[in-house]
Amino acid sequence: MIFKRGKRISWFQFPTFLEFSNIQHGVFTRNQGYSLGPFRSMNVSFGVGDRKKHVEKNRHLISQCMDGAELVFISQVHGAEVLVLQNENKSRFETPPASFTADAIVTDLPNHLLVIQVADCQSVLMFDPVQRVVANVHCGWRGSINGIIGETVGVMKSHFGCQGSNIRAGMGPSLGPCCAEFVNFKKEIPNKFWKYKDRSDRFDFWAISRDQLNVAGVLLENIFSSNICTRCRTDHFFSFRGEGTTGRFAVAIGLKNDWRK
Ligand SMILES: [Zn+2]
Repeated sequence: MIFKRGKRISWFQFPTFLEFSNIQHGVFTRNQGYSLGPFRSMNVSFGVGDRKKHVEKNRHLISQCMDGAELVFISQVHGAEVLVLQNENKSRFETPPASFTADAIVTDLPNHLLVIQVADCQSVLMFDPVQRVVANVHCGWRGSINGIIGETVGVMKSHFGCQGSNIRAGMGPSLGPCCAEFVNFKKEIPNKFWKYKDRSDRFDFWAISRDQLNVAGVLLENIFSSNICTRCRTDHFFSFRGEGTTGRFAVAIGLKNDWRK
């Protein structure tokens, strides 16, 4: 991952997306924002008990560092619903709080930044440079076992005519195989996923997502995993497992305003 630092914000970028000048993206760290206490400091979630004013200012910082793009949030519920942002429904995204319940969002509209909020769950960013489509997936363990990654690639194919072999994917910082312990895995996780478990009930959800992307048609060489564990790196990121009451950091991708078909 490539680290960038601005005056009032810092973020990471995936090397896999940098060759494309017509998209912008970022994995924003928890640092340099306005929030206080357990939400220190770049919390972007209204739903964790932080002050509304601080969240608004943090969101504004992100928009500013991404050329003033409109930030698009969804109401994430650990489901497998994929939403398509288009001209017909975009006005419903433009006034917070997010009015759509979904865990993945796909669009070909420029100047809209698709934002996923996480603190241990994965974000999976995708871009198809041929059909000019971006996607962002919120993928916790429930999303993983419900196949939201495959659902999202499916929508990219059916709605926008994307081909898996053209899609680039980046998997954001999240609970790593070092820390993803599931003591109740026999109840919670179907046994087809048990091959991803080590001897001490820890699962490798990075490998699960990589394999799900690959099964959906994304080539292994086009999948980049940040391999950063949020629980191990609370200096950069929020971790629900590590901290309990905490914030959510933002992971975002969008087509630039000057994108022309
Ligand atoms: Zn860890």
